[in-house]
Amino acid sequence: MSNIKTVVTADELRARLDRLPRLYLADLPTPLLDCPRLSKALDGPCILVKREDQTGMAFGGNKVREFEYSVAPAVEGRYDVLLHGAASQSNQSRLTAAVAARLGLKAVMVGRKDAHAEPVNGNLLLSHLFGAEVNLVETAEEREAVLERLESEGRRVYNTSSDGYYLRSVSYVDGFLELWDQLQGRDIAPDALYVCSGVHTHVGLVVGARALGIPLRIVGISPSPQDNAESNANLAKVANEVSQILDLDLDFSAADFESYGEYAGDAYGVVTPGSKEAVILAAQTEALVLDPVYTGKTFGGMIDHIRQGQFTADQTVVFVHTGGTPALFAYGDEILGELK
Ligand SMILES: *Cc1c(COP(=O)(O)O)cnc(C)c1O
Repeated sequence: MSNIKTVVTADELRARLDRLPRLYLADLPTPLLDCPRLSKALDGPCILVKREDQTGMAFGGNKVREFEYSVAPAVEGRYDVLLHGAASQSNQSRLTAAVAARLGLKAVMVGRKDAHAEPVNGNLLLSHLFGAEVNLVETAEEREAVLERLESEGRRVYNTSSDGYYLRSVSYVDGFLELWDQLQGRDIAPDALYVCSGVHTHVGLVVGARALGIPLRIVGISPSPQDNAESNANLAKVANEVSQILDLDLDFSAADFESYGEYAGDAYGVVTPGSKEAVILAAQTEALVLDPVYTGKTFGGMIDHIRQGQFTADQTVVFVHTGGTPALFAYGDEILGELK
């Protein structure tokens, strides 16, 4: 890392974002919620929640903000299918279906026939409702067969996972500007930000903070087990691509990222004691709905850091709620078991 950096003003960064093609899908700005009862229950710092679960469209979540930038090229390039495939309860599949409906495109889901595929509920129910062609497959061959059929039909397929990949992170540079504006408006300088660390939200927030020259601890908690060093190196790689897109003279390395796989449990998608506790605590102190797969684990990690004494009562932590709440309905038995 060289020491001389171009730090841009918020206005200049906004101008660079405004040069990119964009769709308008989300209700912005999303709220910033005070959580005094939660802080008290944890005997911890002041906790604010950035409500990215309230981006508006189709039960919201971070993908709505991401798709404003990442799906814009699909419209410009006249694609006719939005494709996505992951877990049966994928939030991204739900929002791919929703955005396709809104844009008048066909949505195709090639999801996994996993433990939460039946009964049809939560995100999967919504994907059906938005008119997606839903394929749940068990093998790579079955998945290939769907893709080959689309090709033989002459479809122009835009994959919302891989196409526009870096633009998803760009959207959270924008998200950072929005959050920072809200914090400044309330005269709050947070001591840390917690976010579910897939890739894009985490990277976008880090690039945004650095571009403005704001030293801020941004902690990513992964929904999947990971090698933290490897993950941080990958996040840095993505950050360098994003800073090129925005013409920022920044150079990121693994040391610029802090992410933890320790709170994920044995695998992606399993409910852990920490995520269950987080889901229940947030609901019962603030009527704040988290999900067990992403935000529950991230919140669980934040709770653990608070209990370790990483923050004092006069400090402030912002939790970025990335959404995912429809999945809760597919995990009812696992959560309810704890409540009954
Ligand atoms: C997809 C998803 C994430 C991770 O998203 P990135 O785009 O990798 O930041 C986090 N939380 C929820 C609820 C999600 O659906």
